[in-house]
Amino acid sequence: MDFYGHVIDGAEVPSIDGATMASIDPFTQAPWATIALGGEKEADLAVAAARRAFDSGPWPRMGYEKRQTLIHRLADLMESHADELALADTRDMGKPITQARHDVARSVWNFRFFADHARLSPAETYPMDSGHHAYSRLDPAGVVVAISPWNFPLMMSTWKVAPALAWGNTVVLKPAEDTPTSATILGRLAIEAGFPPGVLNVVHGYGPASVGSALTANPDVDRITFTGESGTGKIISAAAAKNLIPVSLELGGKGANIVFDDADLDNAVHWAIEAIFRNAGQVCLAGSRLYVQRGSYDEFVRRYKVAAEALVMGDPKDPATQFSPALASHEHYTKVSGFLDQASLGGGRIVTGGLFTGEASAGWGVLPTIITDAPADARVVKEEIFGPVVVATPFDTEAEAVALANDTRYGLNAMVFTENLSRAHRVSAQLRAGTVWVNCFFIRDLRAPFGGVGDSGVGREGGNFSREFFTEPKAVVMQITPT
Ligand code: NAD
Repeated sequence: MDFYGHVIDGAEVPSIDGATMASIDPFTQAPWATIALGGEKEADLAVAAARRAFDSGPWPRMGYEKRQTLIHRLADLMESHADELALADTRDMGKPITQARHDVARSVWNFRFFADHARLSPAETYPMDSGHHAYSRLDPAGVVVAISPWNFPLMMSTWKVAPALAWGNTVVLKPAEDTPTSATILGRLAIEAGFPPGVLNVVHGYGPASVGSALTANPDVDRITFTGESGTGKIISAAAAKNLIPVSLELGGKGANIVFDDADLDNAVHWAIEAIFRNAGQVCLAGSRLYVQRGSYDEFVRRYKVAAEALVMGDPKDPATQFSPALASHEHYTKVSGFLDQASLGGGRIVTGGLFTGEASAGWGVLPTIITDAPADARVVKEEIFGPVVVATPFDTEAEAVALANDTRYGLNAMVFTENLSRAHRVSAQLRAGTVWVNCFFIRDLRAPFGGVGDSGVGREGGNFSREFFTEPKAVVMQITPT
C-alpha cells in the first residue's frame, strides 16, 4: 500500500515513533493506503515550522505578486494531478468519482480565486481635517490552523488553506483522519511548486486528545478555521478562547427546501434530488427537510420517488455512478442507520430507500431514502442525519412554510422554489440561514459570504469575508502638515 506522510517544514515525513493508520475504502471496506499517524509532537513541530516561516521566512514578506505566482503554480500542478487527487478522495470517502473531480476543479479555483482576490484587494484611506492622514493596512494574521471534515476532503481543506496563504499567512492543515490522502498530495505539490519550507504543513491524526486538540491549544497559533460538527465547534471555540484568538466555525446544517405550488416542478425535483443525494447526503448544505405546498405535495412526492429510484448506483470509481450507497465509514453508517428505526421516525413512513443490503458495501450502505408523515418533533426532522435521508412534509401557507423552515437550531442554508418573484425575495428575507438558494442549489460565487447562524457556525468566509478573518487590519496615522 502507498504511504502518505505528514508534510512538515518542506518535507514529507513519517511520525516520530513510526506510528501509522490505514485509510479504508468504503466501497471495498478494505485498507487501501497507509498514513502517518501523528500526535502532539507532530502537531507542535508543524506549528513551530509555520511560526518560523511566518516570523522570519520569505512568505509574508514577498508581496502579493510573487505569492500569487506560486499559488497559481500550485493550482497548475493540481490540475495536472487532478485524476490522482480525485481518486484519493473517492477511495478515502467513497464519493462518486465525477463528484470528486468536481471537487478538485473547485479546489483549483479556490487557489486561483483567492490568489487574485488578495492581489486586487484595496485598503482604505481616511483623509483627516486635522492635518493628518490615516490609512489601513491588512497585514497577514500569522500562523493559521485549518481543521477540515471528511465529506469534501480536498475542497474544504483548500477553502481554508487558499485564502490563508494568499494573504501571507503560514498554515498547518489537519485533514479528517478518515480522509487524509489528498492533503498529503497537496503538501507534496506545494513543495514541487516551490513554496518555502513551513508555509504549508500537513499533520495527520485524530481530533480529541491528539493532533486536533494539540493544534487548537498551541499558543503560537494566531487563527483557527474549522469545519465540522457543531459539538466539535464548541470544543474548538473554547480552546481558541483560552488563547484569545479568532476562530471561524463552519458547522452542521439541517437545510429546509421549500417548494411552492407555483414552482417549476421538474426543476424543483431535479434540485431536491441533488440537495440530499449528492455525496449520499454527507453534505452540510443538504436539503434534508423538504416542505412542499399542499396542492403539489402528492405529485411532487410521486415524481421525487421515481427520480430517487432512478439514480445510477454502483462503484464510486465508475464515472457512470451517480449514487454510491456506502457511507464514509462504518462508524458513520451506524449513526445514519440509527435514524431509520421507528423511534427516530416518530411514526413517519419510509416511502422509498432504507438500508442497502446488496453485496458490495453491505453493512455500510444506505439507499436514497424519502420519509413522509414524520411529526415536527421527530428525531429525523430535528437532528442532522448527514446521510441520504430526506423528510417530506406538506404546508398550506407561505407563513407556515417560513415558520417550519426556521424551526431548527441550525441555520446554514435554505432553498426556495417559486416562479413568483416577490415571494422569492420576501421568503428569502425571512429565512434564518447563511445562504438561500432560489430555484437552484449548491451554486457558489466565491465572493459571497459563506457560513451559518445558530448551531451552523460563527463568522463568514468567502471573498472579503475571508480577507477579514485572515488579516490583521492596522491603522497608520501620519502628520502631513508641520506643527
Ligand atoms: P468532526 O467535527 O467530527 O471532525 C472534523 C475535524 O475536526 C476532523 O479533522 C477531526 O479530526 C477534528 N476534530 C474532532 N474533534 C476535535 C477536537 N476536540 N479538537 C480539534 N479537532 C477535532 O466532523 P466530521 O464528522 O468530520 O464532519 C461532518 C460534519 O461537518 C457535519 O456536521 C457537517 O455538517 C459539517 N460540515 C460543515 C460544513 C460547513 O461549511 N458548514 C462543511 C462540511 C461539513
